Formats: sequence, C-alpha cells, structure tokens
Amino acid sequence: MAKKSKTAITPTREQDYPAWYQEVIKASDMAENSPVRGCMVIKPWGYAIWENIMHQMDAMFKQTGVKNAYFPLFIPLSYLEKEAEHVEGFAKECAVVTHHKLESDGEGGLKPAGKLTEPLIVRPTSETIIGESMARWTTSYRDLPILLNQWANVVRWEMRTRMFLRTSEFLWQEGHTAHATESEAKERTMLMLDIYTKFVEDSLAMPVIRGRKTVSERFPGADDTTCIEAMMQDKRALQAGTSHFLGQNFAKGSDIKFQNEEGTETFAWTTSWGVSTRMIGGMIMVHSDDDGLVLPPRIAPAHVVILPIFKKDEDRRTIMESAQGLKDALEEKQFHGRKIIVEIDDRDIGGARGWGWVKKGIPVRIELGPRDIEQNSVFMARRDNPSNQKQSIDREEFIDQITDILDNIQDSLFNRAVIRRKENTFEIDDKKEFYKLYQKSKGFNNGAFIMSHWCGSEKCEEKIKKDLSVTIRCIPFDSPTEEGRCICCDNPSSRRVLFAKAY
Ligand code: AMP
Repeated sequence: MAKKSKTAITPTREQDYPAWYQEVIKASDMAENSPVRGCMVIKPWGYAIWENIMHQMDAMFKQTGVKNAYFPLFIPLSYLEKEAEHVEGFAKECAVVTHHKLESDGEGGLKPAGKLTEPLIVRPTSETIIGESMARWTTSYRDLPILLNQWANVVRWEMRTRMFLRTSEFLWQEGHTAHATESEAKERTMLMLDIYTKFVEDSLAMPVIRGRKTVSERFPGADDTTCIEAMMQDKRALQAGTSHFLGQNFAKGSDIKFQNEEGTETFAWTTSWGVSTRMIGGMIMVHSDDDGLVLPPRIAPAHVVILPIFKKDEDRRTIMESAQGLKDALEEKQFHGRKIIVEIDDRDIGGARGWGWVKKGIPVRIELGPRDIEQNSVFMARRDNPSNQKQSIDREEFIDQITDILDNIQDSLFNRAVIRRKENTFEIDDKKEFYKLYQKSKGFNNGAFIMSHWCGSEKCEEKIKKDLSVTIRCIPFDSPTEEGRCICCDNPSSRRVLFAKAY
C-alpha cells in the first residue's frame, strides 16, 4: 500500500510556514481573526490553554510573595508623560480616548461628542498608573517592597499583526515591584526571569536562551531588559518574556519616595515583567506539525480522548460503559497538580473524528472497539508520534502508566526542540559567511541562530538590521568572555551575542 503522504494541514511547514501557522490555529479551533483590526477571538480550546498558563504562573508568582491587584484600563496622558523615554517609546502605538459620548450627526448616524479635557490612553503597559498608587502607598522603608501583579489586556497599535504572536489587543500579566535598594530590585528582575524560564521550559516544553537586551532593544524607560528567546521551527527567534530593571527612572517620574532606615528621603527602585498570549503562538510554532497542533501535556486543555468504535448498534451500550469506566479511572489520577482530563467523543462522523483530535493536538488518543474490550486492551496513539502509528496496550497497564506516558511526551517535545536549536545554532566569525547565510535564509529551512562577536556599537547593530533584517536577540548570560572581532566592523569584542531573524 502506498504510504499516506497527504497531510491534515495544507500548506505544509516547508511549503509556506506563515500560512501553515494560520491553518493550524484554524484547524485546532483555538482562535480566529476578528472583524476588529488586529484583534483576535480566542475560542474555548485556545482560551483553556491561556487559563492553564494563568493558573500555573500565578501560583509561581505567589510563591515569591507577589499579590494580584487591578488598575484602571485608562491612563491619563499626563501620567504617561512622566517618564520621557517611556512615552516616546509607546507614542506611536497608543489608542487614545478623546470623547466620552455619542450624539446624532444629523444624517442618521452618530458622532463622538463630549470632548475630554485630558485624553486617556488605553494602557499599553501600566508602569505609570501603578506608579501613581505606589507613590501614595510609600512613605517609609517599612512599606517596601511592594510586589504586585495584574492579569489584564493591553493595547498596542501594532501595524503588522499575526494571531497570538502580535496583536493590537493582547492578554498578559504585568508584574510591578518597588524596592528600597537597587540590589533587591535587580534580584527581583532576575527571580522573575528565572520563573519565566522554568515555566516556559517545563510547561510549554520550549527551550529558551536567557540574556540581556542591547540598549536599543530595551523596554522604553528601563535601565536593563532581560529576556528569554526561543527558536521556532523556521529558525526564527521569538521573545517569549521580558523582565525589566527600571532603576529609579519611574520612581522619579511618579514620585515613589520613602524615608530609609537613616531617615533620609530616597527614591524607590522598581521592576516590571510580563508575558503574554504570544507564548501560545510560540508553543504552536515550536511543536506543531503538518497534521496540526501538538500540545505539551502540561498545558493541554485535555490529556486523553477516547474514541469509541461501534461496529454494530447493539455494541453501543457496552462500549460506552467501558469508555466511561476508563475515563473515570484515568480522571482519578493527577498530572503535575492537575486532574487528568479525558474527553469521550462518540460522534458518528467517520475518520473526521480522529483527525479532528489530531488537529487539536490532544496528547493521547484511545480507540476502543468490541475487540479491545474482549481483550481488555486499548488502542493508543501519541500525538508526538506520526499520526498513523498506533499500539495496542493492556487496559490496566495503560491506566497505570498514563502519567509516565504524558511525562514522556512532554520530555520528547522538549528534547526535540533542544536538538533542533542545537543543530541550527552556529558560531560565525567571517562577515561574508554571516551575510551569505542570512541572505539566502528565506523560507522554512535556511535560518539559524548565529553566535557572533559584536563590538557593542549601535551603528553595527543598526547596519546588520538594515542589511539583513537580523537583530541581536540578546547578550546571553552564559556567553563566555573571549577575545574576538566584531562581525560587522572588525573592532575588538569581548563576547559573542545571539543574532537571528525574529517574530
Ligand atoms: P514588553 O512590555 O514590551 O516588555 O512586553 C511584555 C511581553 O509582551 C513580552 O513577553 C512580549 O513578547 C509581549 N508582547 C509585546 N507586544 C506584544 C503584542 N503586540 N502581542 C502579543 N504579545 C506582545
């Protein structure tokens, strides 16, 4: 028999990676583009993933003393203006509210009316409005640290949008902390980056490179931006999370002052850190294949689907009872602090049923027919294996081993991503070679992460960006100091940095 070569998703990754990405989202029923420019509708299968992300990260934040709060969606323009670099950085992508009501335009339509005395900005991030509260709450060193997080939506008027990866409105968490000392604030910046690393690697199975942004890529108003960067299957980079040390810049702008232990009035040191629904886009791009979404079990909305197979109508009752029994037994088990979630899909729609679950990326599919029940076995397929690979396994053994199977899928996805990154990361010292690699890097197969020397000048960074659309993703923390020459200008350099094309 000819090998099945048709894929559930067209085009394939090789044929057209960006179109493949949109199709995977559509076929998995996670989300869709909305009629509102740059904004998306997140459907239940996609939102359940976001809920799992929120649930898991929230617990990790709280373990470090962070508490949740909520601040207004609208930021008065004058607040945003308190930090000069900050307002300049966000000015080009702000949604501005200028009116507070509608009135008849005299032609059967409506027009904005009731002009506000001060325009309100729909928050692109909340440093300035949270700073205003922090300033009121802080008088003595005893009031510090303040460790806050908010789960919210923000708006950045992005020109080129793509579902999950870059939308005009997106969901995120933003942490904001204020400290009495510089070292404590720096420690917090790193602690949150550690948490992001752990979450993204352990739950999303995405290996990341940790490092520091260059001055030109810093968050507007920050003294230091640290980040985690992941490699997608087309070898482009995705910034999966950022943690900023803000120095005293925002404290000075918002007047967050306190009396220190010696009785001297001092400005606080602040941090902010955020991850967004972009992480879901990254997870899709790292693990999914030409048959659709592939979900790491730790983040999947459901772990197992049981597909009962009815050959004859009279089998139906026995098989459904057996399926329900299997579901109950599996759901008594825990997987990384969550109950194992099992779906039974008894729709009579032929092959589309199984393929539907493949495309949704559920980690384990179980077929259960009269023969399996007779033999006390189940027919299992793992989403990390090719779709036609299935195995018969003893029912009790399957129940016993389910958490190991899920762990094994989680690990295999992570390890694959690590290997892919390793195979596509190179050290290059020759400018021609560097240019050649990126000039031919179009499409799915030709990109790379390049570790090269950089002299530290913005001019060289800018030239490479302009010539090749390649940016310095970060100065990796673990890049050793070594003597070398800048890949752009040949001046001396003391360490390699990470270059890549990015989303
Ligand atoms: P920032 O406040 O710019 O450091 O961004 C915080 C987090 O939000 C980072 O993890 C970014 O990758 C992510 N992010 C920034 N802009 C967008 C966007 N337009 N859509 C989705 N996520 C974004």
